[in-house]
Amino acid sequence: MIDLHSHTTESDGTYTPKQLVDAAVALRLDALAITDHDTFAGYNQARQLAAEAGLKLVCGIEMSTKIYHPVRRTVHLLGYFGENGPSSDFISWIEDMQEARRDRNSRLAERLQSLGLDIRLEEVNALGRSLAGRPHFAKLMVSKGYVPNITEAFRLYLDESAPGYVERQEPSLAEAIQRINQSGGISSLAHPVRLGKTDPLEEEELVAEIVRLGLQAIEAYHSDHSREDTRRYLGYAEKYGLRITGGSDFHGDNKPKVKLGCAQVPTSILDELRQ
Ligand code: AMP
Ligand code: FE
Ligand code: FE
Ligand code: ZN
Repeated sequence: MIDLHSHTTESDGTYTPKQLVDAAVALRLDALAITDHDTFAGYNQARQLAAEAGLKLVCGIEMSTKIYHPVRRTVHLLGYFGENGPSSDFISWIEDMQEARRDRNSRLAERLQSLGLDIRLEEVNALGRSLAGRPHFAKLMVSKGYVPNITEAFRLYLDESAPGYVERQEPSLAEAIQRINQSGGISSLAHPVRLGKTDPLEEEELVAEIVRLGLQAIEAYHSDHSREDTRRYLGYAEKYGLRITGGSDFHGDNKPKVKLGCAQVPTSILDELRQ
């Protein structure tokens, strides 16, 4: 079994890169991909540790992108890179994204302060290590007693429809797909069930549109997917000539119900991705 979707403390997971490698070894996973949001810092730290432990580690990333279809929506995209890692062009593009995120974070802290919350950027950055995100704001709001839990933090303040929401410059899905592909990586549509399409025909139409943008793979296996969902996404893969990826989307204690390896991803898909 393999797991191609996981997060470390370098983004919004609670396991350090070392703890994650140890957990994957303990589970005897055949391979693990670290796919932190907008950063390779976790993968870079885990690389040597995984090699020493005999764990096959795949370099990955998860990005939030936007697509207008017909209204603006956020779509998560995964990128997977081979032994040599992403190109230097891609890395410098990711650094631009990180800058946009830091800019958003500083405006978000100001907005929350204007709403009467004592949330300071330095505190958020201390929690978020290389890359703080809204989950770190949410955590801080919980620990300061402003909200009972993370879900409420999003509902009352951080969600796109909530009063604290501050826009972040997000790349278009088209650009992100092309950058990953050009860098020699494989672009994969993350947890397609979260596209939120209840009508399978509408869902397929949106997937077909994303395929036209150059998408190469689809995350058919994911902790949010029912068996039925997975079957449907394997069907899209077949029909549109996409490769298949899958993973738990492990975030440690931030999503305690999601266990590493729980998406039951067959090891065979990794060989197909390598080709
Ligand atoms: P950011 O990339 O900083 O805008 O934060 C986005 C991240 O926040 C997502 O990847 C999720 O992990 C998390 N998130 C978004 N909405 C919610 C929600 N309603 N409840 C909990 N976590 C959320
Ligand atoms: Fe996340
Ligand atoms: Fe995601
Ligand atoms: Zn994820």
